[in-house]
Amino acid sequence: MPEPSFLLDGMLGSLARWLRIMGYDSEYLRDEADGELLAILGDRYLLTRDKQLAQRAGARGFYMESDDLDVQLSAVVERFGLRLDLERTRCTACNGQLERVPKERVEHKVPEGTWSGHQDFWMCQGCGKVYWQGAHWKNIRGRLDQLMSRK
Ligand SMILES: [Zn+2]
Repeated sequence: MPEPSFLLDGMLGSLARWLRIMGYDSEYLRDEADGELLAILGDRYLLTRDKQLAQRAGARGFYMESDDLDVQLSAVVERFGLRLDLERTRCTACNGQLERVPKERVEHKVPEGTWSGHQDFWMCQGCGKVYWQGAHWKNIRGRLDQLMSRK
């Protein structure tokens, strides 16, 4: 079965970022009209805080009842059987795919201490943002592990 992909409406920017970290293709459109969202939905599932919009999307709509991020993430993880796969993590800024790059390529693109302290770097194929597994990453991972073990 192919992995699910998502389209999130304007109220769900934080949730979109977390789904991208988990490795799921998640488009986030802040200012799109309801009709536009439905028109471009395609094979994606529509995650929305708008109950009527979710109903209009039919089987592809999923209404997010809570505005609490942890609750939202748990609901999506449960409904779609998501798992955390850090090998597939996507760019939190633009949903692009990351590729591992040689350390030399990012020498002047990250702070010097970061460059000398890490061996593994990734770059977004969409916007060029550079990623590495720093302290921030550990916090993210800890939070996700906690969420996913709660079930
Ligand atoms: Zn990007």
